[in-house]
Amino acid sequence: MKPIDLKGKTAFVFGVADEHSIAWAIAKALHAAGCRIAIGHQDRTAEMVKPLLPQVNALDIVCDVTDDVQLDTAFETLKKEFGKLDFLIHSIAFAKREDLQGQFVDTSRRGYQIAQEVSSYSLVALAKHAVPLMTQGGSIIAMTYYGSEKVIPNYNVMGVAKAALEACIRYLAADLGPKQIRVNGISAGPIKTMAASAVKDFDKMLGFFRQKVPLRRNTEAAEVADTAVFLCSELSRGITGQVIYVDEGYNILGM
Ligand code: NAD
Repeated sequence: MKPIDLKGKTAFVFGVADEHSIAWAIAKALHAAGCRIAIGHQDRTAEMVKPLLPQVNALDIVCDVTDDVQLDTAFETLKKEFGKLDFLIHSIAFAKREDLQGQFVDTSRRGYQIAQEVSSYSLVALAKHAVPLMTQGGSIIAMTYYGSEKVIPNYNVMGVAKAALEACIRYLAADLGPKQIRVNGISAGPIKTMAASAVKDFDKMLGFFRQKVPLRRNTEAAEVADTAVFLCSELSRGITGQVIYVDEGYNILGM
């Protein structure tokens, strides 16, 4: 198979917490394709992220997406170091642990706001900062999950945030299409990561999933990463505003 060549391209990857993060798999795959990488991460994950950075020769940028000053500084740094941006990866989500169990009806106002701000609005904020640097077009990719469409036990407030995120993908795709900036989502099957562990009974979900899905195995971050590379590449140049499933076929099942 001919490898995808992204030499001369630049990517800003948000959401690396540790070596299990989907964003880390994406950073490695984009680096392997020849892309220059900047990694945006929260200060609180710095200790786990810093040892990874040399592996992909990444520019290290601390950025909490709820802080406008940090967002401004992050993109100023990127502009100074890279001069332009081709790809933006949004692999960020957060909800309070108490809102990822029990009944959705018990979601607090603040819990709802936090989940939306971090997991959905942040895509809009990041896109707004990225667009001026995407002078030759670009590709923006966000990670989502099937809980946006169907009720998944305990996913609760995050399902609603992912529904909003997927709507943001479509509105941004319409806005940015004339600039040849494409915006897509990847809907991944369950993968054991730090964020996923916050969902009650996540391990049970993994076991159920691999017994039922057409491909009879769990989704791997590397599979999601390969799809991200495709969505960054010219091979996907006609695709925008879509959510692509990398879930071993789970979404086609009716029962
Ligand atoms: P992860 O915990 O490795 O990544 C989540 C990231 O979000 C972390 O790096 C965290 O630091 C970051 N984050 C949270 N709040 C932030 C803030 N205020 N500012 C900046 N960054 C912030 O877990 P993951 O599973 O790799 O999650 C990545 C994305 O993939 C999320 O959007 C998640 O919903 C999505 N996803 C995960 C799965 C799964 O089963 N793991 C399935 C489908 C979609």
